[in-house]
Amino acid sequence: MAKPKVAFYWTASCGGCEEAIVDLNEAILDVVEAVEIVFWPVALDFKRRDVESMADGELAVSFINGAVRTSEQEEMTKLLRQKSGLVVAFETCAYLGGVPGLANFWDRESILNRAYKEVPSVVNPKGILPKTQTEMPEGKLVLPEFFNTVSTLNQVIQVDYYLPGCAPPANLIGQALQAILEGKLPEKGSVLAPDKQLCDTCPRRDSKPEKILIKEFKRIHELQTNTERCFLVDGIICLGPATRSGCGERCLNANMPCRGCFGPTAPVLDQGAKLLSALASIMDAKDEKEAQHITDTIPDPAGIFYMFGLPSSLLHHKRGRYL
Ligand code: SF4
Ligand code: SF4
Repeated sequence: MAKPKVAFYWTASCGGCEEAIVDLNEAILDVVEAVEIVFWPVALDFKRRDVESMADGELAVSFINGAVRTSEQEEMTKLLRQKSGLVVAFETCAYLGGVPGLANFWDRESILNRAYKEVPSVVNPKGILPKTQTEMPEGKLVLPEFFNTVSTLNQVIQVDYYLPGCAPPANLIGQALQAILEGKLPEKGSVLAPDKQLCDTCPRRDSKPEKILIKEFKRIHELQTNTERCFLVDGIICLGPATRSGCGERCLNANMPCRGCFGPTAPVLDQGAKLLSALASIMDAKDEKEAQHITDTIPDPAGIFYMFGLPSSLLHHKRGRYL
């Protein structure tokens, strides 16, 4: 019997999630045994025309990691959607926008100006910016369009399942592959990770008191942290109350607070707003002035609240002059 055909593709991301597949270790041999990988540009020499020549729906599943930042990424994700039975948003950049999505605090013009004109190490006296088409003596040079904002995968194509994590842990990847191969997938649109808050599975949860009161927030390097106490007790911002579990509590076990890479649980519409509400409830302020003082001690609030999910949030991108 023919093996199901599988594609892996990489858009706006750091590439670490491609390595997460290799993190399956020996289990990758079982994957190769069970499926036929027919497109994986980061590891094997396949071309776009190989996908174009496939019949619609010929791919059993495409795992796409990364957000959508350029016209080339948009074209490729649409092409893979057309050729695939299932599309899995494979990691948090595809699912929520991820760290590349933080660029939505700026627009295309300010990013290009910064990168090509303002950075002190750049020498560009004519202020030339990249163009989608440039006539050269050798012919026309064509570059993809750099969009004004970063989009999540499901803002561009229909996505069937979401596998969260920066990067997704090997056990969740293995479970997802098994569920696909056995046809035991949950309802379409599901996130393939437990729908439980990270605080519920955190090894420090028993040290989290019923009521926490904070006079100021601190950065992790400002304190000698207790390796067993809930970070919030010491005023260190941890995104556990606004984050889905399933990562294996990786950061917490390394004595670092959670930064929210698994995204929110299903009922939460906006991870940043959920964290804001959790932090507001522990601020020990008698009046507005004190509340302002405590708020001012939150380091990089926009970056912390939306480190992994700005494009999927209610904000999506910079609005007017307020951000
Ligand atoms: S806030 Fe962070 S450290 Fe505290 S219980 Fe939740 S996940 Fe654990
Ligand atoms: S602890 Fe938080 S940031 Fe770290 S891997 Fe888990 S979900 Fe991601």
